[in-house]
Amino acid sequence: MNLTRRAFIIGLASVAGEWVWPSSLFAATFKPMHVVLPPKPKQIFYKEGPKKGGSLLVIGGIHGNEPGAYKAVDILTNIEVTRGRLILIPRSNFTSILANVRGYNGDMNRKFAFIKKGDPDYPWVTWLKEHIKLEEADAVLSLHDGAGFHIRNKRAWGECIVIDEETYQGWPLYQTASWVVSQVNNQVISPLHKFAVYNTQTFQPHTLHAEQRKSLTYFTLTQAKKPAFCLEVSKQLPSLQLKVKYHLLMLKYFFKLYQIETRPPLDKLILDLDKYFPSKPHFCVTLRLNETPITLCGDKTIKVPAKTELKVEKIDGENGIFVSPYGINLNWKAFRVYNKLILKVKHDFKTLAKVKFIVT
Ligand SMILES: [Zn+2]
Repeated sequence: MNLTRRAFIIGLASVAGEWVWPSSLFAATFKPMHVVLPPKPKQIFYKEGPKKGGSLLVIGGIHGNEPGAYKAVDILTNIEVTRGRLILIPRSNFTSILANVRGYNGDMNRKFAFIKKGDPDYPWVTWLKEHIKLEEADAVLSLHDGAGFHIRNKRAWGECIVIDEETYQGWPLYQTASWVVSQVNNQVISPLHKFAVYNTQTFQPHTLHAEQRKSLTYFTLTQAKKPAFCLEVSKQLPSLQLKVKYHLLMLKYFFKLYQIETRPPLDKLILDLDKYFPSKPHFCVTLRLNETPITLCGDKTIKVPAKTELKVEKIDGENGIFVSPYGINLNWKAFRVYNKLILKVKHDFKTLAKVKFIVT
């Protein structure tokens, strides 16, 4: 692309006040379809029991290609808390989850020390930081699916609880993590899947992990003044259900420690995990095509005239169901297309249906 054309595109995009699909700029004489999507939901769930106990803020999905982490937190949104309090944020980086990549806009877990206002992750990181700071929680747990198996390779992030320091502000981070690990390991049969504690020593000058000073847990410790732990299962575990199971096992012992009880108890939840993985989750998307409302609950091809205004108004279904326009920047809330649009309906990383619009 030469500079003149690049300048033309940037100019056109900014004049329009929204983004234009660049590949279609050559067809500027045609009348495009204008598409408006709803904002991605920032979901937070509060669950409090009648009995007094502790409280935990549990965060999943900061890395979008770690489904064990966000599914485990999502499943907890279905259960009842009978003692203590849970604050749940299952999908803290929903754009990356829909794209099934670590960071659609770069690594979100390196943006907690500083983030530019123009960064598409800015509203999400700011929202997370506010909740981490303001929520009354005794500790913050950030869930991940890390690469490899720590027990085999001390630099691998899978199957461990990560702490930034042995103790911080008097909080016994190592002691807590190692107690949870020892309890979990009693229930893990495969030697390769046994958990360990990974202390990154983030505060030490000689640390091998200075990058962790930009992370969610470091922010939580230093700015929000709360204990923080990263719970990591392995990306290489053979199934998503097993990843979720190991996350729930770690949570079971954190709940015990922080005096949180649930109905069903997590042991029972783990036994019934299959019911939280429906093969075909139900959904319906309500659109407005030039003021005409249409509700779609499956695949569909729709021919639309030029200059059509398409507005996605409502998405009904389970948490994690959203629309994802194929080939379009997933940060865009409004855009124009010229010939066709494929709107995927996704349940997190999984495509449930495709709605095709052909501009005639
Ligand atoms: Zn991660």
